[in-house]
Amino acid sequence: MHKRIKKILIPLLIGIVFLCGCAAKEPTPAGDFQQLEAYQETYFSLFDTVTIVKGYAVDEKAFHEALKPFYEEFLLCHELFDIYEEYPNLLNVKTINDNAGIAPVEVDERIISLLTFCKDVYDMTGGAVDVTLGPVLSIWHNAREAGENNPEDAYLPDMEELKAAKQHCGIDKLVIDESASTVMLTDVNARLDVGAIAKGYAIQMASKKLPEGYLISVGGNVVATGGKEGGDTPWVIGIRNPNGAADDYVEKVTLVNGSVVTSGDYQRFYTVDGVNYHHIIDPSTLMPGSRWRSVTILCEDSGLADALSTAVFLMDRESGEKIVLAEGAEAMWVDQDGNVYYTEGFKERLKK
Ligand code: AMP
Ligand code: MG
Repeated sequence: MHKRIKKILIPLLIGIVFLCGCAAKEPTPAGDFQQLEAYQETYFSLFDTVTIVKGYAVDEKAFHEALKPFYEEFLLCHELFDIYEEYPNLLNVKTINDNAGIAPVEVDERIISLLTFCKDVYDMTGGAVDVTLGPVLSIWHNAREAGENNPEDAYLPDMEELKAAKQHCGIDKLVIDESASTVMLTDVNARLDVGAIAKGYAIQMASKKLPEGYLISVGGNVVATGGKEGGDTPWVIGIRNPNGAADDYVEKVTLVNGSVVTSGDYQRFYTVDGVNYHHIIDPSTLMPGSRWRSVTILCEDSGLADALSTAVFLMDRESGEKIVLAEGAEAMWVDQDGNVYYTEGFKERLKK
């Protein structure tokens, strides 16, 4: 099991939960009158959170057969996009970080396409989501881990140290050579942190390996590959109330095809002197963003939804809405007082 997963209170991480689906007794659309049953599988060691896949198959064996290609792809993405761990015979994002200022690293095409997308996200979000923020994010990460392990000694990062780390950030330090399939960080102290985007990007790719009508939930990221059983019946996704328990939903939305992703201040945080400090860092202040309790994005592509949820979490509503609508997405915001705001399209997708 992944080292960091042990520290996670699993149910608290699941900001979005799919809510319905009992055994289905309808004939398949092909006219084959074999009955389908609902099945569910849970994985605990991927992307530092819990993955649940739900779908329909004729029997359990068929369900697990259908999951195999998905799991293999998702596991590979988990290893390729990891910034903390090394794996035998694999060059991953950690390898790129370890070679910062030293040499380009030839990597799998999945890393090239993820990082190319990350550069696009930087432009799209005006730098709000910046995967080269690694030096700053690792200071917060270390403080959070120390605070979680020893709550009495929890401390805030030193602002001078954060500012010094910021000197080594910058999207221009990330050089991708697509024809050579190499990536290089040009500053010896530069580091990538793909945590804002990689999970959604990976589910999007892996979900292509599943049959129609499956639902995947990875922490706060959900993808549906079609309505239940591949039909028109939507899945119902609960969006967690940031002030409530894991099964207290602020809203429920319907999903047939596409993705719902939430970024929230309750998903990962630690406490210093009674104040919670979470994991989404505003590049302009180097502190956790404080505008929203959570932002949920609804759109076709889970990589885009993941990127947008982190970005919009750091923006005022007007700026966020502009970007969301320009990207063909919809959004829902929960503010510090529990007020909820929606784009028009999001409102239409609420479960009545
Ligand atoms: P998410 O849960 O998708 O909103 O992503 C949060 C994760 O993204 C954090 O745990 C960090 O690894 C990373 N992160 C936090 N703030 C930023 C930022 N401004 N730009 C890029 N990555 C970030
Ligand atoms: Mg994100």
